[in-house]
Amino acid sequence: MKSLRLCLYLLTFLVIPLSLNGAKVHHLKWEKGLDFESYLERYGVPETLIDTLDREDMELISEIIDNRYYYEMIATNGVLLQSLIPIGEEMQFHLFMTSKGYKLEIIPIAYKNDTYITQLSVKNSPNFDIIKTVKNRKLANEFLRVLKDSVNFESVQKGDKLAIVYDQKMRLGQPIGMPDIKVAMMEICGSKHYVFKHTDQRYYDEEGKELIKRYMRKPLNHIRITSHFTHRRYHPIQKRWKAHLGTDFGARSGTPIFAVAKGKVIFSGWKGGYGKVIKIQHDDGYVSLYAHQSRLKVKKGEFVSKGDVIGFVGSTGRSTGPHLHFGIYKNGRAIDPMRVVKFKTEGLWGSEKRAFIKRKKIYKSIISKIIEENRPSYIWNRMDESCVNPKMKSYYKNLGW
Ligand SMILES: [Zn+2]
Repeated sequence: MKSLRLCLYLLTFLVIPLSLNGAKVHHLKWEKGLDFESYLERYGVPETLIDTLDREDMELISEIIDNRYYYEMIATNGVLLQSLIPIGEEMQFHLFMTSKGYKLEIIPIAYKNDTYITQLSVKNSPNFDIIKTVKNRKLANEFLRVLKDSVNFESVQKGDKLAIVYDQKMRLGQPIGMPDIKVAMMEICGSKHYVFKHTDQRYYDEEGKELIKRYMRKPLNHIRITSHFTHRRYHPIQKRWKAHLGTDFGARSGTPIFAVAKGKVIFSGWKGGYGKVIKIQHDDGYVSLYAHQSRLKVKKGEFVSKGDVIGFVGSTGRSTGPHLHFGIYKNGRAIDPMRVVKFKTEGLWGSEKRAFIKRKKIYKSIISKIIEENRPSYIWNRMDESCVNPKMKSYYKNLGW
């Protein structure tokens, strides 16, 4: 199975290069603690290559995950021809050799992303039945999480119904990453409890009241966003893919940085593109990250309270000016910090509320219909497969390979 998957993967990415005489493709795990600079050095790739990236991309070199699989193609003489190194769930570094030396770019990892609808009658428990029916443990976890503040799961009985509308990324027939729940409904003794995800990525009840009550505080007193979070986007002017796994705040050097919630410091020190950085482990699988600091004030292993000063804004690492790169991870996955940090007043108002009500009505009628028809899980909306066409193809073609 593993070799089949590998073949499929290679067919997707490396069709042309595979015909290279004698070159070997390796499927390897990223060594724990290996930094990207050392990796380049290993193959004699000049470290200055990193300087060809822009500021946001440079930060991504600190997002390479230990023990994640990556691909390397090595020529018979030991020269590195290309590597595909994942960053987060959606993007990867593509390092490749050209006649003008090595090039480095960021490209998406190929996957399909479809919208699914699932509905079922509880036989055992919502958790057990979702896993059994859909074979997606993360979906079961997310379902319980988004409804935990509005439903008492202990009162669920056999025959109660549930429904979920969600987006799921799939690669080679397997779900990858977290499912993105748009609507979750749990009916208990005939009364339906809904949560809806709005375009601001937050969850609301039917009345447009926000559901997550516990927020993290702001990491700085005065917030000026200079760069937003994005898993991946295509930059139409630069004509290339980009990702930014955190939010950047502009601030003067020396501005105090606060812990956004109580927790334990799990990293305090230097990390590649992030420079002087602190990571704090919080409850419920959340980790916060504060990068490019001028001075760190807490050490690994220390416990901090919400609002404690943990360090000061700086420009260390790969940074062009003083700012705070602030990241939030949920179970190891980078999420948009704006989703969990309190920046604005709660609730929806005006045109935003009207848009919410409109979407809510559509979703509710879809869910009523599938429950009425008792349809099993199915794909509701099939989106286009994200396709990757590395410039490698034309490059190797030009060389007659
Ligand atoms: Zn940043």
